[in-house]
Amino acid sequence: MFVDSAKIHIKAGDGGDGAVSFHREKYVAAGGPDGGDGGKGGDVVFTVDDNISNLIDFRYKKKYAAEKGQNGASKNSSGKSAQDLIIKVPRGTVIKDAATGRILADMSGDEPAIIAHGGKGGRGNAHFATPTRQIPKFAKPGFRGEELDVQLELKLIADVGLVGFPNVGKSTLISVVSAAKPKIANYHFTTLTPVLGVVKIEDGRSYVMADIPGLIEGASEGVGLGHEFLRHVERCRLIVHVVDVSGVEGRDPKEDFETINRELSNFSQELADAPQIVAANKCDMASPEQIAAFRKYINELGLPFYEISAATTQGTKELAYGVWEELQKLPPVKRFEAQPLSREEIEAKSSGSKDFTVTVEDGVYFVEADWLYDILRTANMEDYSSLQYFQNVLVSSGIIARLEEMGINDGDTVVVFDFEFEYIK
Ligand code: GDP
Ligand code: MG
Repeated sequence: MFVDSAKIHIKAGDGGDGAVSFHREKYVAAGGPDGGDGGKGGDVVFTVDDNISNLIDFRYKKKYAAEKGQNGASKNSSGKSAQDLIIKVPRGTVIKDAATGRILADMSGDEPAIIAHGGKGGRGNAHFATPTRQIPKFAKPGFRGEELDVQLELKLIADVGLVGFPNVGKSTLISVVSAAKPKIANYHFTTLTPVLGVVKIEDGRSYVMADIPGLIEGASEGVGLGHEFLRHVERCRLIVHVVDVSGVEGRDPKEDFETINRELSNFSQELADAPQIVAANKCDMASPEQIAAFRKYINELGLPFYEISAATTQGTKELAYGVWEELQKLPPVKRFEAQPLSREEIEAKSSGSKDFTVTVEDGVYFVEADWLYDILRTANMEDYSSLQYFQNVLVSSGIIARLEEMGINDGDTVVVFDFEFEYIK
């Protein structure tokens, strides 16, 4: 099975937690804080592997998580950073944020791409000593690693894409101009997998041709086969439009040609605007009048026209060379640019954001704030300085002001995650 799209969940490693520790030595009554910082969590990194040809592995394994950084330890020793998680994909895979459709990376080149960043390590208590807080009994937890759903889409990298109705002879053509050996059969939809072939002209000059499964009417609306394969022609520099000029299947070549072009433009304007060469195939079965009529029609459109017979290889060398010449005039294979974050996304992601919500039920105030979770997670509420630190956060973030606005009274209960306290002005 050829799988060219998949949605997976990736999670970078959380940072290791900072340590709470105090220097201990014989005959030294009370040492200073010496809790080390946590290590960084592992990144999730994508790389290209040319031994992989499609995305089938991602059908079976959909969750990928990098390791957490090591926690800090006593004697100011920092935790080790976790190793990155490497995910290998076939060349040409485009990675998108599944939630927004934003392009994160185009894996066409050889550079790896970090798609989810590991969290930084939390600070150990050694960092929190101040003249007024000489024995900080708390440390910071590690920051969370980034986590998201990504959509992987394989867009094959080929210079030329063959398009046309099923059974017009696309697979036969690629098999005679390159070493590719796709299945050829006299029924529709024989090609279920795009096939790449290297077409060699003379002097070591060559280009890559893709045989795309046949398009049928309505393909761009997802009817039947074809639509899902159109993404593979998106990168192509040139389209070779193969038409059965003999009409052996009772079809009109002109109509076929127009239908396929309509499908291309329904899929994307860019595809419709891509340069085309027309290959009138099965000339061995066509009458001179049929060929002449179709040639006239294509000439009027101003497109290059080649009459060929893929089965007998008549005219295929000329076509292969004509394609090469046309390619010389065209820009290189399209690469998709990573798209920058939108303003909303930046705001949502910014670590400085201190968003929170407060709801009240039966005189109990529930505070929700994602960023507070980490602070609370390691706070030691038995410890005065830790408690004071927590209280400062509640004030500086505006949570206390909000509670007052909402009319909180002495003795009311405030709940933050699993922590409850009694409010005292
Ligand atoms: P595809 O569906 O477009 O890939 O078409 P195929 O390459 O699988 O060919 C479909 C049928 O048409 C097969 O039976 C081929 O042998 C036949 N065919 C392909 N090219 C020619 C040609 O130039 N002349 C004739 N007579 N038959 C051809
Ligand atoms: Mg085929």
